[in-house]
Amino acid sequence: MCAPMIGHRGSEFKKLYAGIQPRLQELFATKRPVFLSTSSAWGVMEGAIRNLTQKKVLNAMCGAFSDKWFDVSKRCGKQAEALQVEWGQAVKPEMVREKLSRGGFDSFTLIHNETSCGVLNPLREIAEVMREFPDVMFIVDSVSSFSTLPIPMDELGIDVLLTGSQKALALPPGLALFAVSERAMKRAEAAGDRGYYFDFVEFAKNQEQDMTPSTPCISLIFALESKLDDIFTEGVAARHARHAALNAQVHAWVRERGFEFFAPEGYRSVSLTCVKNNRDVDVAAWIKRLRERHRFVIDGGYGKLKGKTFRISNMGDESRETIAELLAALDDTFEG
Ligand SMILES: *Cc1c(COP(=O)(O)O)cnc(C)c1O
Repeated sequence: MCAPMIGHRGSEFKKLYAGIQPRLQELFATKRPVFLSTSSAWGVMEGAIRNLTQKKVLNAMCGAFSDKWFDVSKRCGKQAEALQVEWGQAVKPEMVREKLSRGGFDSFTLIHNETSCGVLNPLREIAEVMREFPDVMFIVDSVSSFSTLPIPMDELGIDVLLTGSQKALALPPGLALFAVSERAMKRAEAAGDRGYYFDFVEFAKNQEQDMTPSTPCISLIFALESKLDDIFTEGVAARHARHAALNAQVHAWVRERGFEFFAPEGYRSVSLTCVKNNRDVDVAAWIKRLRERHRFVIDGGYGKLKGKTFRISNMGDESRETIAELLAALDDTFEG
């Protein structure tokens, strides 16, 4: 990120942009181009609604981020309906079918990994249901699951797959990545109110020249290139396996310490663990000791889950050693 700045319309930038495309497409498991948006994920989450919702959007909600997407849809002036499940529970395929079969929808949003409560929604099963509704665009947020497990965009028929830089990719914030299916591009072209900054058609046009519509966060794109070097040196399958192993390491600690999981078995995130505070500890005080004594920061529960849960991430660059160090520090600062 400290590399000298380059112009965003010159050959050096085009080389950088084109150079990372093949690896990005491999991670997205798509033949479609991968667009780079200088924004956090919310920019593209809002953009997907503006580009693709003409009639009505169904927003699946099971936590803070997915709940907010419903709010964002309405703020974009769209007709939106909520598919609300309790925080910590998963969105089930039959719920999606039941709602969509009432008709009137042209788009559906799903957060694959609901970061606020550690729920991993059953993406493949929901994708099967989506095939029954070919006019409904399937918009998937993979902000905290991207590259931690396989998400085969093309195979699953996902229309928009998006992620951000600062969660699963463990880069600084400010960059979002997304790919758009061919049929979603056609839908966007027909939409009259896409705005400018997140106009998918602008992204596609500039992509042909290996560029972005407006000036991008070039330093972060250098960082992304470096991160891709790391990811492909480790190997994508090995990266997935590492996340599964580290997640199991955290889960073992949770069980051994007599804690429970906030999400039900079978629907637990592999990139972070949301622990239920069933032992009724003073989570805020524990986290404070952890920070002061060991300089580690973990989250003490998102929004209404504050104090009722705490979350341990194993996404990004964590290793068996770093996770072990964190868990030992949690033990060291625990007061029952
Ligand atoms: C963090 C997060 C977002 C929002 O990301 P921003 O970078 O704040 O735009 C969206 N979805 C999920 C699942 C997240 O974890």
